[in-house]
Amino acid sequence: MSALPESYPTRYWHLLSDQRVQCDVCPRYCQLHEGQRGLCFVRGCEGGEIRLYTYGRSSGFCVDPIEKKPLNHFLPGTPVLSFGTAGCNLACRFCQNWDMSKSRAMDTLAASASPQAIARHAAALGCRSVAYTYNDPVPFLEYARDTALACRELGVKNVAVTAGYVSPGAREDLFEFMDAANVDLKAFTEDFYHRVCGGHLAPVLETLRYLRHETKVWFELTTLLIPGYNDSEAELDAMTAWVVEHLGPDVPMHFTAFHPDWKLTDAPPTPPATLSMARNLARRNGVRYAYTGNVHDPEGSSTWCHACGHRLIERDWYHIGAWGLDAEGRCAACGTTCPGVFEAAPGHWGSRCLPVDLGGT
Ligand code: SF4
Repeated sequence: MSALPESYPTRYWHLLSDQRVQCDVCPRYCQLHEGQRGLCFVRGCEGGEIRLYTYGRSSGFCVDPIEKKPLNHFLPGTPVLSFGTAGCNLACRFCQNWDMSKSRAMDTLAASASPQAIARHAAALGCRSVAYTYNDPVPFLEYARDTALACRELGVKNVAVTAGYVSPGAREDLFEFMDAANVDLKAFTEDFYHRVCGGHLAPVLETLRYLRHETKVWFELTTLLIPGYNDSEAELDAMTAWVVEHLGPDVPMHFTAFHPDWKLTDAPPTPPATLSMARNLARRNGVRYAYTGNVHDPEGSSTWCHACGHRLIERDWYHIGAWGLDAEGRCAACGTTCPGVFEAAPGHWGSRCLPVDLGGT
């Protein structure tokens, strides 16, 4: 590819009366003096405008199973070319990807690739989709969007893995070329978002309502359950009831196990019983597809027909077993449609995670 620009122009910002410039991409609305970087550290004020410093730069590429995103109702069993950059617009103390998301020196950005090269490689590798993941695509919005457009032109689908912490104007750009998303719903209290993530819950709920009611993006939710922080029955009851009321019963929810990491080391790993409690509670509240994750739980990680109880997709971690859907994505036993994006048969990628080198293209 041609030489990468040191920085890339962006669209969502405006000048303030005191000559600072405000970035309008996410609800942090960083107000920056010339030469300053925002909280995400990958957008900053330069020449009187906000510029992006990670366009075309990646922390590396990996072909993953789509189940790892996690997405259980989107082209099951297929490979997805996954990449991220550096920087994140939340500051979660429990971050499981902190080496990339909190990278400031950009020394993690080993690989470079243009949007067109990513799309070409994804197609050549047989990947059905490209995932914008590891860190959140919100701070690298322009790179993610251009790549998503290039992928769409080659028939490769796009998957955003995001916390949904994006401002109303920018989210239309972020999701326009996305086919699927996994959104982290990190907790269901403003207090948790404020104390643990340095953000707010309300904009995330707005993003979820937007995805459900104003787009065709298939999306699933993930909540990492941290003992003592966001795993009370009362909080999960409120969260799952909200999901059913505002998003409907067909949005899958994943409850995944926490492992002490980054700055949050005072909580133990999540007991499997907590994950099962959350899953059962969600189902009682009307969530039709609730999953446990990051644990060995064939029952909790499989998909079951909400109407007749037939097993639709057997899973163990990322491995797909028995397939109980017909060619139209309906339950083979009772004919009830399983919501999501399905083909006549699952893919055969298996559970491999394969690092790939795009060769600086
Ligand atoms: S995207 Fe980055 S610079 Fe822009 S408001 Fe959010 S944290 Fe600040």
